[in-house]
Amino acid sequence: MKILSRRSFLQNMGVGAGAAAMAATLPSFVNISEAVNYEGKKLNIALCGLGRYAGYLASGLEASTYCRLAGIITGTPSKAVEWQKKYAIPQKNIYNYQNFDEIANNKDIDLVYVVLPNAMHKEYTIRAAKAGKHVIVEKPMAITAADCREMIDACKKTGVQLAVGYRLHYEPYNMEIKRLGQEKVFGQVRLIESSLGYKSGDPNEWRLKKALSGGGPLMNLGVYCVQCNRYVLGEEPVSVTAQFGPVNNKNLFKEVEESITWQLQFPSGAVGTSSSTYNCNIDRFFASADEGFFELSPAISYGPFKGRTSKGELSFPVINQQAVQCDAIAKVLLENKQLPNHITGEEGWKDMKVLQAIYEAAATGKKIMIS
Ligand code: NAD
Repeated sequence: MKILSRRSFLQNMGVGAGAAAMAATLPSFVNISEAVNYEGKKLNIALCGLGRYAGYLASGLEASTYCRLAGIITGTPSKAVEWQKKYAIPQKNIYNYQNFDEIANNKDIDLVYVVLPNAMHKEYTIRAAKAGKHVIVEKPMAITAADCREMIDACKKTGVQLAVGYRLHYEPYNMEIKRLGQEKVFGQVRLIESSLGYKSGDPNEWRLKKALSGGGPLMNLGVYCVQCNRYVLGEEPVSVTAQFGPVNNKNLFKEVEESITWQLQFPSGAVGTSSSTYNCNIDRFFASADEGFFELSPAISYGPFKGRTSKGELSFPVINQQAVQCDAIAKVLLENKQLPNHITGEEGWKDMKVLQAIYEAAATGKKIMIS
């Protein structure tokens, strides 16, 4: 039985022993891609939507090796001034939602990172693609699977690449549970429990407005549970049953669910049971396999993560998730290579099909087949 150590994880990531030693002495926000000797190029990224998560991304880009925060797209003039000053962004790289399409003429922007409310992802991804820019779009990729397909097609048509901002695909603890599951290190996984939730309290939050969010905690948080079920098993779910939870706060949850629980069945016979909720704090993953178990908690949020298996504790470096994710994507694009399948728009589309099936199962009370 092979458990990946912290050092061998870094080596598997293509980072040498020197960097592994460095990571061991730096407790937080270590950029593990630093040790890779790239040619000094940077991918010029424009952030579209300057809300809370864009702030995390801006810090990540500052800490990155292969990326530069080169531009911004915002509908709020005061934010344009504030961000321009803070990140030394040239005036010519600042756009609003009206003149955004002019970005097509800007050679100093390579990629647009869409960090807007979910329902706006489609429009801004397609506009960026038409402007000839690569795109990273935040999760959930859109609010319907059909929208995801339109986004994928638009990017194919204009020859740009499309990634979904799945930061956990570069996070050591999550990549370890993927390896433990897919390599069957503890034998066949039979049951996964994964849940993510927090207490929501702001009635003006766009996440509670269906037209902007596409749904409640399932869209925002459940997408991570669906993801980790899929990447730990390396399988696509075949069917789902689901139940909406009770609405305890009727003032807050007028348009979207307060909580939802679902059960995915996979071809191997494995079952993934999950909840996503806006009424309590929870962040955990547990997999039971024929010869043991592995678990993380916290598992999905910004960490620091904690995990163990039936053989002992897991220990990996704390990384700047946004920096490592953007660097990994930048290196591929700077080398003119194809992005790996696990983070492309196709992946976002697969997740969205599952999310839609979960909603259908909860609404009808029936088992829904996922095709
Ligand atoms: P936010 O509310 O903090 O920011 C949204 C931004 O969109 C704001 O700058 C707002 O001004 C702008 N905006 C433009 N038009 C708007 C409209 N009609 N209504 C509301 N806002 C509008 O949200 P956020 O937390 O930054 O989330 C943005 C996206 O990033 C979402 O898709 C979310 O799921 C995703 N996200 C991802 C992660 C992650 O860990 N990968 C974390 C948080 C959020």
